[in-house]
Parts: sequence; structure tokens; C-alpha cells
Amino acid sequence: MKTTYLCPHCRGSINAGNNIILSAKTSTNKKGLILLHEEIGNYTSEISSSLSVEEGEVVDIFCPVCHESLNIPIKDALARYLKIDENLKECHIIISRKYGEKITFTVDENKHVETYGEKLSRFIDPDWFLLK
Ligand SMILES: [Zn+2]
Repeated sequence: MKTTYLCPHCRGSINAGNNIILSAKTSTNKKGLILLHEEIGNYTSEISSSLSVEEGEVVDIFCPVCHESLNIPIKDALARYLKIDENLKECHIIISRKYGEKITFTVDENKHVETYGEKLSRFIDPDWFLLK
């Protein structure tokens, strides 16, 4: 099985082709889709033209299937979803919701954290990744 990305709420698949598809809304109520490359650490992305986001602007992220929020509630500017690899191993993926900020974390079931992209010391405790 190919790597699949899932919404943690409805477990709907949120990837197609080589992209993870997320629904997004800005604080000024602009809405559209964000396409992220499914390869972790590859920050190629595309956004709907209706969603003109400024560098550094924080957007709210939603599941494109069930429209639940993927924001992590207790920390600002992060969102999460699930990844299941070809061996059916499941891990959490955490991304920045700040447009242009290239940060990705993976957290596996043993709370082992790997970071990709820019390093930020403010994210150090894996426990909050796993909170509902
Ligand atoms: Zn969903």
C-alpha cells in the first residue's frame, strides 16, 4: 500500500497524486485549498488563487473531507494529521500554519519525534502533539 495521509477526525484520505490537500481559511475569511507535496521535507506547495496569503500569515486548516479543524488547539500556529506508511505504521504529522514557515514534525506511537525543515526550539515536548 502506498503511503496514505488521513484526517484524525474522520480518517478520510487527504492525499491524492503527490499532494496532501488541506482546506484553509485566513483571519480575513479568505478560503481555498492548499496542496502540500506528500514527501516530508519537500516544501513545494500550491494554493487556490482565492486564498491570497501573505508570508507569515497564520491560516486555519481544515479537513477537506469532513471540514473538522486540524489546528492543534493548545499551541498556536500548528496543525496535524496522520500518516500511514506501506507497513501500516501510523504516525502524527505536525506542520506550521504560518504561511512560508517550513516546519514539519513526525511523532510515532512511541512519541519519538523527528523534525524536518527549519528547527525551532519552541517545539520540544511531544506530549501535546498527541492531545485531542
Ligand atoms: Zn476529516
